[in-house]
Amino acid sequence: MFTKILIANRGEIAIRIIRACREMGVSTVAVFSEADRESLHVSLADESYCIGGALSKDSYLNMSAILSAATATKSEAIHPGYGFLSENATFAKLCTEHNIVFIGPEAETISLMGDKDKARRAMQEAEVPVIPGCDLLTDLSHAKKEAKKIGFPLLIKARSGGGGRGIRLVRSMDELSPCYQAAASEGLAAFGDGAVYLEKYLSPVKHIEMQLLADHFGNVVCLGERDCSTQRKNQKLIEESPAEVISAETRKRMIDATIKAGTTVGYRGVGTIEYLYDHNGNFFFMEMNTRLQVEHPVTEMVTLVDLVKWQIRVAAGMKLDFSQEDIVFKGHAIECRINAEDPYKSFQPSVGTIEMLHIPNGPWIRFDSAIYQGYAIPPYYDSMIGKLIVYAKTRDEAIRKMKAALCELIIEGVVHNTSFQADILSAEEFVNSTYTTDYLGAYL
Ligand code: ADP
Ligand code: ADP
Ligand code: MG
Repeated sequence: MFTKILIANRGEIAIRIIRACREMGVSTVAVFSEADRESLHVSLADESYCIGGALSKDSYLNMSAILSAATATKSEAIHPGYGFLSENATFAKLCTEHNIVFIGPEAETISLMGDKDKARRAMQEAEVPVIPGCDLLTDLSHAKKEAKKIGFPLLIKARSGGGGRGIRLVRSMDELSPCYQAAASEGLAAFGDGAVYLEKYLSPVKHIEMQLLADHFGNVVCLGERDCSTQRKNQKLIEESPAEVISAETRKRMIDATIKAGTTVGYRGVGTIEYLYDHNGNFFFMEMNTRLQVEHPVTEMVTLVDLVKWQIRVAAGMKLDFSQEDIVFKGHAIECRINAEDPYKSFQPSVGTIEMLHIPNGPWIRFDSAIYQGYAIPPYYDSMIGKLIVYAKTRDEAIRKMKAALCELIIEGVVHNTSFQADILSAEEFVNSTYTTDYLGAYL
């Protein structure tokens, strides 16, 4: 096992990782931007170092500053969390070159799966069904030709997109040209890559993703699914496990496909394969996230597998001490993302100081967050300020528990979405589990 790990992230996920390290007896190094001096992850880590200015590009994306901090502190490994450098193959490679373990898959795997076009081909090779679509587009006339073949509506997707960015819905040929330009320029601005391709727009569908965990000895397990269909503008708001509409037979097929996919690409560490699922029990590969996922806690609750600890253990070269047959799915878990934004004013982000905070408590309630009373939320980063997770024996009980916990969660000083979350939990589609990725948009 490592003796010291540097955490190249901030917020709730940095704290989640620090906690795992502390329980495993591993020392932690936090890095922070000038805007994050008063952040909780800084005070919870054993050591902490400022790595640059408030803007992500100057700090949390500043590879040389992070590597210098790791070298100076004699950290043996870097945990990238999610977002920031977590899916950056160049960073993973630089870590290796500096003799530091990047806690994630190999740089080659990150490159392969981060390129949505190449990833689709790799999955086809693994005989995993993919969403009907085309290869990378060369220009608008190529796009028109492929669009005719695929039919409308369709999606234009940036090859390197993520976090719901670089995607445009195209309903007719007239919309193709402006959408092409919009997706390509968003891809270029956000990910430095303007390459795009087309995919058939499947609707109505559920976003069902499967959790993978693999060690360096060829052992690959799948820890079941999460239903992440509660989305606004392709961004997840509520996640749950299991997905009640999936039959045991389909779940088995999805688990087998996921293990095959992981094995084919020689996957190591934790990762998630996202699928679209239709009402006929068909599922199609959408993309793979080669990192820890925001919503990993719901899987932890229903499997009792600590994903962060296992991610660190396999990176340190340890073997999985359980196999697929040992994994037992029990009960039901739900996560609500708590965002500092105003659902009643077009989800405008809100910044300010937390004047009053009361965190719900009681059996099987978990709040992963980095906020504290008196904390001034900096305006530079994500609007997610916490994740409320509940666990219960049945889905109905989990929903009731979540509503009660949302009601008890008091955050004063910023506008947030807890009452909106409670409303969604009462929506008919949510209650009967039939909700698809478009229901929240329709609800709004
Ligand atoms: P998850 O799939 O785990 O739910 P999200 O897609 O919501 O995660 O993204 C988690 C975080 O990572 C968000 O802050 C998002 O903006 C960021 N993110 C996602 N994909 C990328 C990417 N390719 N490059 C940079 N940041 C990304
Ligand atoms: P990102 O890397 O930004 O997470 P994804 O490819 O995972 O991008 O797509 C984000 C979301 O967009 C999905 O969760 C899903 O709701 C929707 N989506 C993506 N592809 C399709 C498709 N072909 N048809 C319908 N919805 C889609
Ligand atoms: Mg996705």
